Amino acid sequence: MSKFWSDVVHRLTPYVPGEQPKLDNLVKLNTNENPYGPSPKVIEALKLEAAESLRLYPDPNSDALKAAIAKAHNLNANQVFVGNGSDEVLAHVFQALLKHSRPLLFPDITYSFYPVYCGLYDIEYQAIPLADDFTINVDDYDQPNGGIIFPNPNAPTGIPLALVKIEKLLKSNTQSVVVIDEAYVDFGTESAVGLINRYSNLLVTQTLSKARSLAGLRVGYALGSPELIEALIRVKDSFNSYPIDRFASAGAIAAMQDVAYFEETCSKVVATRESLIKELTNLGFDVLPSGANFIFAKHKNKDGAELTAMLRQKNIIVRHFKAPARIAPYLRITIGTESQSKALIESLAELLV
Ligand SMILES: *Cc1c(COP(=O)(O)O)cnc(C)c1O
Repeated sequence: MSKFWSDVVHRLTPYVPGEQPKLDNLVKLNTNENPYGPSPKVIEALKLEAAESLRLYPDPNSDALKAAIAKAHNLNANQVFVGNGSDEVLAHVFQALLKHSRPLLFPDITYSFYPVYCGLYDIEYQAIPLADDFTINVDDYDQPNGGIIFPNPNAPTGIPLALVKIEKLLKSNTQSVVVIDEAYVDFGTESAVGLINRYSNLLVTQTLSKARSLAGLRVGYALGSPELIEALIRVKDSFNSYPIDRFASAGAIAAMQDVAYFEETCSKVVATRESLIKELTNLGFDVLPSGANFIFAKHKNKDGAELTAMLRQKNIIVRHFKAPARIAPYLRITIGTESQSKALIESLAELLV
């Protein structure tokens, strides 16, 4: 508390990111990073960029990057907005498109940054409870609102929502924007990007942090009608003219273009996920269905907090959420390499005897 702080700062409850421990030899399965490095073509592009002049500002409009993203998704460049990680893109989305007199709707169990942005931008929201099986029921969102947002697959549950349900929501909710946060969509969830040309109320956000293994580069984007994209550009140009630096642009373009590497690494993660689910089930875990690069699992007789602490003793870090109480028994486990998966299973087998 300080007399120098503005009112909004006094009222903020900032987001708490997963830990980035400064230790080696950890099996780090807590922040949904990709265990495989980025495409070798990304590294080449970054080296080339380093040889060029960093003296100059980057392109404020990121035209080359937008063109590469548009091409990858079969859209036009005026349907693409880019930002410094999809968290920054989402921040602009909240301010530009989701702040209205009616409340914003999102699930009670979801990405915990959403209520944080509501606090920052003073947006009223209503949390809609997930069903008992942790799924989203789109009919629950059929009420007057200032916007709707949820991740697909949802976080931290990992549960995917079928595209037909999203389309139903877009048809019933025509008076406000529906934002689908597709941070994890490439690990086996159906994308809503193909609906963009038919629904002007749809905005999809994606990131290069997860499937393209570039969490450290900070690039995310939004896809939608030019009308929605223009709102985001207006906010961005009132905030930071150059959110995408020269490295981020060069690396992200190379990543979007290397489709083969992207597909190969995503399928490796999905294969590891499926075998991990089987092994955890054998060890007495109940694992929710996952369309993501992580799983949400609870053990039949060991508490989530206790298991997290025990794994830490064995240098394995997973994520645990204390609240809400309904998810406290669960662990969120990022899918790592095959050998990390093996280390996790071996440790759990020892801990659970
Ligand atoms: C990781 C994540 C993001 C943001 O990722 P960036 O690294 O900021 O691009 C957005 N939404 C969800 C649900 C996420 O898990």
